[in-house]
Amino acid sequence: DTDISVVDPRATTTGYDDIGGLTTEVARIREMVELPLKHPRIFERLGIDPPRGVLLYGPPGSGKTLIARAVAHQTGAVFLQVNGPEVIQKHYGESEELLRGLFAEAGRHPAAVIFFDEIDAIAPNRETVLGDVEKRVVAQLLALMDGVASRGQIVVMAATNLPNSIDPALRRPGRFDREIAINPPTTTGRLEILTIHTRHMPLAADVDLESVAATTHGFLGADLAQLCREAAMARAREALRDDRAGQCSEDAATLFVHREDFHKALAEIRLSTIRELSSDV
Ligand code: ATP
Repeated sequence: DTDISVVDPRATTTGYDDIGGLTTEVARIREMVELPLKHPRIFERLGIDPPRGVLLYGPPGSGKTLIARAVAHQTGAVFLQVNGPEVIQKHYGESEELLRGLFAEAGRHPAAVIFFDEIDAIAPNRETVLGDVEKRVVAQLLALMDGVASRGQIVVMAATNLPNSIDPALRRPGRFDREIAINPPTTTGRLEILTIHTRHMPLAADVDLESVAATTHGFLGADLAQLCREAAMARAREALRDDRAGQCSEDAATLFVHREDFHKALAEIRLSTIRELSSDV
């Protein structure tokens, strides 16, 4: 099914190295997720249920999907991703079937991470929604999560930026009983993220990523990734102009991203949080 994306752990390279900042968050998530996926027997032996669900909350672009992908990759689990709003919009009336298919698919692999992006769309609070369809979808999801209990090789992760708008029954023990806030990066975190996203870029000596990190308060991971891309694009445009003027600078020895390219990019970028606000009006 095209609406469930399935990623084989061998087919992706997204790992913990690709996550900047978020050190304590990632450490906590690893503790919760890796043990049940890699050593389900330990729980069996101890006679307890392994942790099943982890809810990640924080603004869009803060790295929630990135973390879930990295956990799957590094534990050798397949990564099954579904987008909440898509499931509801495209499969109105068939959403329950899609959810059953998803969990069945997860069960066919030795280890699987199911990731619900924007879970609030699938599992809104049943007290505030009117439709029967929504209520049935929430009930189905609860039943499927309860069914995962005994196996341990499936971990369900979900992301939301509205933790209080999801059905409270989902946040009870045995369901999404662990919650982790994915916070905006600190200056150190921003520097790590900038370093990751310029890894494959030739940087001129005048680029000082530390000062870029210091001046980008409020930028999330996605914003910083875009900033780096825009800086390189500014340089590409410059190169193109030179090329038209007959001074080709495609040459690897002379083509570098400069400090001024970051300045140009900074002037153009719109932050995720601001994009969010303006798309609401
Ligand atoms: P959404 O809820 O919109 O899906 P999200 O929190 O899941 O947002 P991601 O999709 O993980 O955000 O982030 C988008 C992109 O931004 C990532 O693919 C990555 O390139 C970059 N990014 C975000 N956070 C980080 C981070 N902490 N370290 C490195 N890159 C990051």
